[in-house]
Amino acid sequence: MLVTGGGRGIGAAVALAAAAAGHAVAVNYHRDEDSAQKVVERIAAAGGKAIALQADVSQEEQVLRMFAAVDETLGRLNGLVNNAGMLAPQMRVEHMTAARLQQVLATNVIGSFLCAREAVRRMARSHGGAGGAIVNLSSMAAKLGAPGEYVDYAASKGAVEALTIGLAKEIAAEGIRVNGVRPGLIHTDIHASGGEPGRVQRLEASVPMGRGGQPEEVAAAVLWLLSDAASYCTGTFIDVSGGR
Ligand code: NAP
Repeated sequence: MLVTGGGRGIGAAVALAAAAAGHAVAVNYHRDEDSAQKVVERIAAAGGKAIALQADVSQEEQVLRMFAAVDETLGRLNGLVNNAGMLAPQMRVEHMTAARLQQVLATNVIGSFLCAREAVRRMARSHGGAGGAIVNLSSMAAKLGAPGEYVDYAASKGAVEALTIGLAKEIAAEGIRVNGVRPGLIHTDIHASGGEPGRVQRLEASVPMGRGGQPEEVAAAVLWLLSDAASYCTGTFIDVSGGR
């Protein structure tokens, strides 16, 4: 199993849950090597197998290098969680630079496409693979639009949803299921990178359940979609948003 952005936040919770479910896990990170190594150490301490792999998912040669390292160290790939994602400081569309738009779309959209492509090349029956599952992290922002905050991020997640639906249909006969999870307001560092560390607390009252979610609550949905329990689910989404 490869979890992109697996060193922190939701990705770390997914990596730990996947290891607890018996998967050997490749924990990808971009810059925060310490956090990724800590996840690997926690998995090893619990008797599991994991490695940390650095790669910027938006860079094709780095993605190729990462998948080659997975092949060499963990063997046959069974699953991919396209979790790596980023957002930029809150602002209205009229102020967004082209450089910002390119970075958000390259990371969230092109990164998910490149990793999905490499996973399909390994898991598809027509490539000699044995099938598998892909889960893409979308966001409730794909439906809500994130006005005044980051419409670019919301649009990137809309693209991730179209990737999920199209790829699911394209490779259903290859033994690969492709699904998505839409987290709502989850307690992670991503809100600080948008310039508002207290964003979840500010918006909690708008959540029908009255609270933000925990990364582990998102990981549970991801793990279910990866598992054989979801054997007849493809091209679909689970909202993990407290009813928002
Ligand atoms: P986070 O705490 O900010 O962590 C983001 C992770 O993505 C980090 O591990 C980071 O690596 C990695 N990453 C960022 N850019 C990357 C790149 N170019 N290449 C490889 N890895 C990269 O975010 P999070 O809240 O856990 O979010 C995880 C996913 O859930 C994202 O796709 C996000 O859009 C989605 N989501 C989150 C929420 C929420 O409320 N938290 C809501 C909806 C959707 P480093 O550790 O090396 O920096």
